[in-house]
Amino acid sequence: MNISKSISLFQEAQTLIPGGVDSPVRAFRAVGGQPLFIERGDGAYLFDVDGNRYIDYVLSWGPLITGHAHPQVIEAIREVALKGTSFGAPSPLEVDLAKLVMEFMPNIEMIRFVNSGTEATMSALRLARAYTKRDKIIKFDGCYHGHADLLLVQAGSGVITLGLPDSPGVPANTVIDTLVADFNNLDSVEALFKKYPDQIAAIIVEPVAGNMGVVPPAHGFLEGLRAITSREGAVLIFDEVMTGFRVHKGGAQTLYNVKPDLTTLGKVIGGGLPVGAYGGKREIMMMVAPAGPMYQAGTLSGNPLAMSAGIAALNLIKGDDVWEQLDQTAGKLEAGIASAASKAGIPIQQTRVGTMFTTFFSETQPVDWNTVKVADKVRFGKFFQAMLANGIYLAPSQFEAGFVSTMHDEKIIAATIDAAEKALKGL
Ligand SMILES: *Cc1c(COP(=O)(O)O)cnc(C)c1O
Repeated sequence: MNISKSISLFQEAQTLIPGGVDSPVRAFRAVGGQPLFIERGDGAYLFDVDGNRYIDYVLSWGPLITGHAHPQVIEAIREVALKGTSFGAPSPLEVDLAKLVMEFMPNIEMIRFVNSGTEATMSALRLARAYTKRDKIIKFDGCYHGHADLLLVQAGSGVITLGLPDSPGVPANTVIDTLVADFNNLDSVEALFKKYPDQIAAIIVEPVAGNMGVVPPAHGFLEGLRAITSREGAVLIFDEVMTGFRVHKGGAQTLYNVKPDLTTLGKVIGGGLPVGAYGGKREIMMMVAPAGPMYQAGTLSGNPLAMSAGIAALNLIKGDDVWEQLDQTAGKLEAGIASAASKAGIPIQQTRVGTMFTTFFSETQPVDWNTVKVADKVRFGKFFQAMLANGIYLAPSQFEAGFVSTMHDEKIIAATIDAAEKALKGL
């Protein structure tokens, strides 16, 4: 495979942009080799600047549930762009997207749009603290909620992959109120509430962990978090930036029928443009300025361009038949990879919830970060490179989720399983 243009672009980029990338995991450091520079995407395919074609399971790290450059999404963006990209004033599309999101997630009574998942979680936590008048928050080891200072503690793939336990530049005082519990372990949560009675404002959780690779919630875990937070007067925040519209069209809260107080969204909700959102109970959301005293703002928030892409994408996945198809596609891929691994005699743990999946090279069932981190990263790196050489673009880290889109058809899945059989045999 000739990647000479990517190589020279990466060399130049490294002199201009730290590490040559605008987000760390893109740099391929966890798998070796060097990142490919992408020229365009089309449906399930990515094309690099040297003209190589790949079947894409990264999909911009989740957002592109209708694939690259879906004609209806592009048309919606084009129509809106002709009328202006941002007004810094309310526009009708914000109302449309708000109503549409609430059709998918009826538990959300009010919503505020922001520009990224990071902004969404940061704002939701500020809101939970304002609402409860408490300062401490609980997050889970291995869960990632964006790069806000207070959340950069034991924070999943991007941080773990680089081996940074915490980031320098985050003052100790900023994370002093961030408590860390173990995913799928209610006892570790109870212990924190016991130690800090009436001091914990919120629990924030990825209801299906995706940023340490896909780790489903154990039976009763989310229900337990709901019961504990209700009992303790704390706010339960589901960070559905990744799981929203991905593990089920109504998110994890619909799939598991557990109602959080607040939900954070991102990725799919922007249809490939930068959008985030937080929403939930009216009583809590009414504290957000200017309805209430909790300040949060954004120059480009709710801009019509981003709203239009989100609306178009969500409309495309609204039908139950579309969702069923997505679920089946991901299921076939899951089964195909599992059977290829067993044929090759390679022990793996294949996890999947809806359209999110991870192949862990491990003999240990992944239930939390401690059971995830034992996975064989070197073997994953070899698998990744072999898949790439066979035209399959996976996330360049063992601890990430893969995604399918509505454009991944039977033929594409079959080609992927073929490539996986070859790659696994060669390990
Ligand atoms: C991606 C992600 C974020 C951060 O979103 P950005 O748009 O990258 O800021 C937050 N939470 C979860 C669960 C995510 O997967």
